[in-house]
Amino acid sequence: MRTNTFLSLLVLLLCSYLGLPQNSMEVEADSKSLPAKVGSKPSLVILGNVQDAGSPHIGCKKSCCETLFLKPDANRKVVSLGLIDPINNKKFLFDATPDITEQLKLLKTYLPLSEKETPDGIFLTHAHIGHYTGLMYFGREALGAKETLVYSMPKMTSFLQNNGPWSQLIDLKNIKLKTIADQEVIKLNSELIVIPFLVPHRDEYSETVGYKIVGPNKSVLFIPDIDKWYKWEKNISSEIKKVDYAFLDAGFYSEMEIDNRDISEIPHPTVLESMELFDKLPLKEKDKIWFIHMNHTNPMLNLESPQSKVVLDKGYHIARIRDRFTL
Ligand SMILES: [Zn+2]
Ligand SMILES: [Zn+2]
Repeated sequence: MRTNTFLSLLVLLLCSYLGLPQNSMEVEADSKSLPAKVGSKPSLVILGNVQDAGSPHIGCKKSCCETLFLKPDANRKVVSLGLIDPINNKKFLFDATPDITEQLKLLKTYLPLSEKETPDGIFLTHAHIGHYTGLMYFGREALGAKETLVYSMPKMTSFLQNNGPWSQLIDLKNIKLKTIADQEVIKLNSELIVIPFLVPHRDEYSETVGYKIVGPNKSVLFIPDIDKWYKWEKNISSEIKKVDYAFLDAGFYSEMEIDNRDISEIPHPTVLESMELFDKLPLKEKDKIWFIHMNHTNPMLNLESPQSKVVLDKGYHIARIRDRFTL
């Protein structure tokens, strides 16, 4: 216990000496070989920060993906968050991505006492490929999971129930659906709450939700996909004020990235647009914003890019795999 306190103090001193943030990103960014230490408080861990189709991206001929086809970057995973509840030895997942195999293993390292490979619950945002297709690995061809609990909104639920191969996961009891509702307060334990809320997005197969995650001390807003901030009935800046961290859709840095596709077909707020909106906020509010869900073309996937530097210099953050936030 004393050694731990001494170590934390040492880390804190080192951080302030090196000018690193002490309060936002809570732990190691890259301790792959070490078992993760999570303490006794619930926390949220970033399991991926890339848009649905990943990086490298299918068919991409641009410089952003060129070297990644030959030498993939193990840190480039599709957006997912892990919620760790060390008191009850439980773990939850936000979205089931095509990278779920590695992401579940990573999540498990934060809960060394847990024997279970599957999460105690998966919260889905919507039916676009990066957000739910990881469920296929729970089926007969892969894990053959037993009643993994999946929280989904009404349209998402009926989409899964009425279309194969998802319906087979339900029939074989690999997954068990729990239908949730807009603004419903879902109590995971006495100090952990999850609240889904509807956001405007191109909803071909399901509605789209973001999530508010409330812990004993800190709360989080998670909106990986939204068409445009102005299309939402709520004011994003006021919503940021109510939480401690906000993980927000950063699909494209600017519209220049999508030269051969119509942006109206794949609307997202660009980071330039978002910053125009958030630049007016005091530094304290900007410090809560963590950009996530970057398209393969978004230069923010590379922390060394000039665009990343602009974002970071303004006081915002860019979410990275293994960033962890104590709640
Ligand atoms: Zn997405
Ligand atoms: Zn989407």
